[in-house]
Amino acid sequence: MLSPEELEQLDPAESIFPSPIPVQCVSSDEYMPPPQTEKQREFEGRIKEYGAELARKQGVSRRRFFQSAAGMAAAFVAMNETYGPFYMVSRAEAATPEMANERAKALKNQFIMDMHTHFLRDDTPIKTFVAQRATVGKLGWNLQIGEKEQTIDDLKFPNYFKEIYLDSDTKVGCISGSYSVDPAFSFLTNDMKYAAREKINKEAGTRRSFSHAIFTPGHAGWLDKVEEEQARLKPDSWKGYTIGDNTNKHLSKWPFRLDDEKVMYPFYEKLLKWSKTNPSLKNVCIHKGLFPPQIEQKFPHLLEYSDVRDVGKAAKDWPQLNFIIYHSGWRWTGPNAPKAAWEHFEKTGRIEWVTDLAEIPEKYGVKNVYGDLGQLFAWTTTANPRLGAAVMGTLIKGLGSSNVVWGTDAVWTGAPQWQIEALRRLEIPEDMQKKYGYRPLGAADGPVKNAIFGGNNARLYHVTPKQQAEIIVDRVAQIKETYEQEGPGRTNMAYGFVAKKT
Ligand SMILES: [Zn+2]
Repeated sequence: MLSPEELEQLDPAESIFPSPIPVQCVSSDEYMPPPQTEKQREFEGRIKEYGAELARKQGVSRRRFFQSAAGMAAAFVAMNETYGPFYMVSRAEAATPEMANERAKALKNQFIMDMHTHFLRDDTPIKTFVAQRATVGKLGWNLQIGEKEQTIDDLKFPNYFKEIYLDSDTKVGCISGSYSVDPAFSFLTNDMKYAAREKINKEAGTRRSFSHAIFTPGHAGWLDKVEEEQARLKPDSWKGYTIGDNTNKHLSKWPFRLDDEKVMYPFYEKLLKWSKTNPSLKNVCIHKGLFPPQIEQKFPHLLEYSDVRDVGKAAKDWPQLNFIIYHSGWRWTGPNAPKAAWEHFEKTGRIEWVTDLAEIPEKYGVKNVYGDLGQLFAWTTTANPRLGAAVMGTLIKGLGSSNVVWGTDAVWTGAPQWQIEALRRLEIPEDMQKKYGYRPLGAADGPVKNAIFGGNNARLYHVTPKQQAEIIVDRVAQIKETYEQEGPGRTNMAYGFVAKKT
């Protein structure tokens, strides 16, 4: 439930999201809609007006326009005019559909491997992500959502498939999960993640879909369960939540540390053994962060499991494994997340706990720590592009561009194309490069961005160039082509195997 302070911060008269706060709001810390800032209001006004003007000129509806490449370009023009020149885009591109389409076509085969995606089980009681989607639409961040009413169906498999594989340039997605002591609150069970992966790959005929299995230290017989599921479900990698139960923190009884020799090292031993048959199992995926001060107050004992203090020693003791830290330890959630992070950064030059993560390689002399961009890229780049630039600059400076990996946490914030476009176009301005020692990000398909979008994950998960080439022309690619011919974003069309056309 939202705390009284959090509720107070929501002025219903000024409410920016169309749906009321869900009563069953169980993971308010994962998500609380932010109040709109002055700048965001400015951006929203600008993009609406500019979009309407361009849509009129092109003889399409505003909604239809925002689903086009020119519409995306228009959004970044409005961002630049609001915040300064962070994005590589021109007014000409927004006003000339041919030019925008040309650019989109040139980039459409870029290998994008998103190892952090979600959908919810059909009988889920979790409602918070509906509001999250509505908000990023209403704020103008994800124009593919726009003002379209969001429902729980938008968080289920058919829409997941559509938004990841048809509405975005994503080539490979990993179905991730979560675990709660109350199993109804797990996003998906390990069996469900496996089944969905198999379904997609069978249809595609390629390795389009990967899946996690969640491990749960402390739970009775957890290592036996891991053994059994490893054999039966063959996950592409294992994921854990050191906080224990993240969705229902009040139920969290078994938080754990990555450097706990008694609890975790036998598990790492198993991974190493299995990695001889599947080297991807060297990847240990760990949820970290999303634990702001207001949550710390409620659950102070979980703080030490939420930050990244336990990563360095584990990484040093297990140099053969890769520790992939989800959300890169980004601490902030809640209504003031971008604002709080920005104020802290201005004062200290640090981003909690992203900077701590970025400092691990130097402090511990390790190379096997990775930062995933799920949530933190979405919630920084459009809320405050300077903060987005700082996040990217900090991670690359400390971990290296070889150790920053693409993950979007889609479909919590809708189809990931807006995040893909934002990274393609984002550049760290020169004043920030000088002041903080950040390196430029370069072209949309330059070496840094290609590595982050797909090269690094392909290396970690052994997706060969041959497999990448097969994916670009597989059955899912064919479905996407038809889908685009019939009009991008036509949400009511029947597509692929989800609803076979007759
Ligand atoms: Zn996630």
